[in-house]
Amino acid sequence: MEKLADRINKLSESQTIAMARKSRELKAKGIDVISLSLGEPDFHTPQIVKDAAKKAIDADFSYYTHVSGYVELREAIAKKFKRDNNLDYTAEQIVVSTGAKQSLANAVLCLINPGDEVIVPSPYWVSYIELIKLAEGVPVIIKAGIEQDFKITATQFKAAITSKTRMMIFSTPCNPTGSVYSKEELKALADIVAQYPNLFVLSDEIYEHINYVGGHESMAQFDNIRDQVITVNGVSKAYAMTGWRVGFMGAPLWVAKACDKMQGQITSATCSIAQKATHAAMLMDVSGIAPMRDQFRKRRDLVLGLMKEIPGLKTNIPQGAFYFFPDVTYYFGKSDGKTVIRNGTDLSEYLLEKAYVALVPGAAFGDDNYIRFSYATSEDKLTEALTRMKKALAELK
Ligand code: PMP
Ligand code: GLU
Repeated sequence: MEKLADRINKLSESQTIAMARKSRELKAKGIDVISLSLGEPDFHTPQIVKDAAKKAIDADFSYYTHVSGYVELREAIAKKFKRDNNLDYTAEQIVVSTGAKQSLANAVLCLINPGDEVIVPSPYWVSYIELIKLAEGVPVIIKAGIEQDFKITATQFKAAITSKTRMMIFSTPCNPTGSVYSKEELKALADIVAQYPNLFVLSDEIYEHINYVGGHESMAQFDNIRDQVITVNGVSKAYAMTGWRVGFMGAPLWVAKACDKMQGQITSATCSIAQKATHAAMLMDVSGIAPMRDQFRKRRDLVLGLMKEIPGLKTNIPQGAFYFFPDVTYYFGKSDGKTVIRNGTDLSEYLLEKAYVALVPGAAFGDDNYIRFSYATSEDKLTEALTRMKKALAELK
């Protein structure tokens, strides 16, 4: 009998991955789909990083490493945290994993007991809720709409804390909204965290370098909560290395040790060659990332301009990451004569079928009044996608 465990039956499929799969299937059938669904840089991994990996293969760096990553790599990551974020982590406090996704999973599975509450500002990144469910925790959502630039206030945060609250998970720059918390905004949240010694912040800073407001602000910078923050980062976005599968965390030592133990039973260390590549990325001058970030900014501005010509797409101005998350409620109740649009999910399906543009419904990020699309693709493709969307949306009356 085909009977799966309750744990997997309760888990939803990742919507970003599902939409990417759908558009690949349509492409395989010869349909010219433009995929703005999966968020990943369309740039190439830097040459210096690729060379380091080739060298590692030839030098037979092909054995299991320390579960948390080989020590020189962790030292280089500790230096990166100091250099870029002014954070003090020792190599023992760093755990390298198979993508930031695994770092997040490690932290949630090591800290959350059944029934523990985890605060998640919404819109949130797609996998947070499912990871909490895997740990049998209880997600507590704080809504932050477009009118507050999708950022929660300290008052909202404080009001959501109960005696069962164990963690808060958020990303800055934020996927899906591109919102970036300022130092003052983070400090206001930190001052609340400091009042609850059992509360941990899982700070997802994977878009650190895709930031158009200047310097990145890390949650762990505040001395009063340093021991309550787990900082997650990785190479997928800043170094265009999504497929290499390397992420890492800086954490209090006891949390890092627990994650090492967890990982030691599930995956062991990530790929030794990918670790060498990551080491080279950590040693690179960060100014090397600027041209890619500038391209993203140019594309953001291009899309902002194109969106102005489409009635009913209400957007913020994203300050980081590479997504737009427009409010699309204007189209609810409208129809092309066949389909009535009720929510972001209907609109995403309509745009896939009618305009062959793949994006992700806002429901995946906690609010189906929105849709998300990535602008990590060429200007030509973005222009074509927005032109197609404009035409298809104009048919909704
Ligand atoms: N956090 C956020 C906010 C993301 O957008 C992503 C997407 N890649 C991840 C974590 C996971 O990244 P990785 O490729 O390192 O697993
Ligand atoms: N982070 C990307 C996104 O949100 C990749 C997808 C994923 O890892 O789920 O689209």
